[in-house]
Amino acid sequence: KANCRMPKSKNYSIMKLLAVGTVAFDAIETPFGKTDKILGGAATYIGLAASVMKTDVSLVSVIGGDFPQEYLDMMTSKGINLDGVEMIKDGKTFFWSGKYHNDLNSRDTLVTELNVLENFDPKIPASAADAEVLLLGNLHPAVQLAVLERMNSRPKLVILDTMNFWMDLTWDLLMEVIAKTDVITINDEEARQLSGEYSLVKAAQKIHTLGPKYVIIKKGEHGALLFDDGKVFAIPALPLEEVFDPTGAGDTFAGGFASHIAKSENISFENMKSAIIVGSAMASFTVEEFGTQRLEKVTQDELKQRITQFKELTTFEVEL
Ligand code: AMP
Repeated sequence: KANCRMPKSKNYSIMKLLAVGTVAFDAIETPFGKTDKILGGAATYIGLAASVMKTDVSLVSVIGGDFPQEYLDMMTSKGINLDGVEMIKDGKTFFWSGKYHNDLNSRDTLVTELNVLENFDPKIPASAADAEVLLLGNLHPAVQLAVLERMNSRPKLVILDTMNFWMDLTWDLLMEVIAKTDVITINDEEARQLSGEYSLVKAAQKIHTLGPKYVIIKKGEHGALLFDDGKVFAIPALPLEEVFDPTGAGDTFAGGFASHIAKSENISFENMKSAIIVGSAMASFTVEEFGTQRLEKVTQDELKQRITQFKELTTFEVEL
């Protein structure tokens, strides 16, 4: 029986969440439409997901002088601490462009312009250097490592998200980060690339040996798997009426997952089961509109309704 308790308090979490990742411009093409440069980036989605849950969240990232103040104001107004987001006035913001295939489960990256990310030296605001939960969102593994090393002490839980781009370009550094993390979240294709195994069960076993005690494999519209050396938990994705643009779903998932852990102050496997439900429920909003548009509007009540839908979807009685 699915058992997912949302933290009752509406107050900000006691455990702090620090997330590092891109704050970016994205240009997206799906079978349903196309955008010019819009707000994107892994850290942006993580921050927005955390703000829905009123998590005490700080972001570490870098932007160029071309980044609109209105985006910063929008995030700040939602309680996202941006003290660790550095602006390089004469630099350009990270830009990514992608095109989805008809099934929306796969996409081609058309452009990745690192721009200000190329020489990024992350600075952690004093207020967040003692965060208990650290989410190393998708970004150069050297930056992820630097952030981990610059914390006051090792956080209680270190979660890593990455993608094929970094596996292709910075394998050794990525291995170094992976060795230092507790939880890794990656999609099925990336798990196969990382492990050289087709079977996701074998892939998870191999990834455990690289460092992470917990391995989360995201399977797009087919849900997610959570592995804890020997134990496995599986959830479906909600069957949605509107699937418009999957960009940021993975980051939103990670943000929801990490926020649930921070709010419930519990890093057990049992609680991670609930956390992946929360992450999936959160991500189900992101895919409904382009970019961050839907996530920006989500309320706590809407999130609770989706979590209830998850319970109904996965609860059944059977007599054996
Ligand atoms: P997701 O759909 O969850 O994989 O995340 C999409 C977001 O990741 C987009 O908003 C991009 O700006 C960002 N992104 C794309 N490529 C990279 C990269 N190589 N490093 C960091 N972030 C990226």
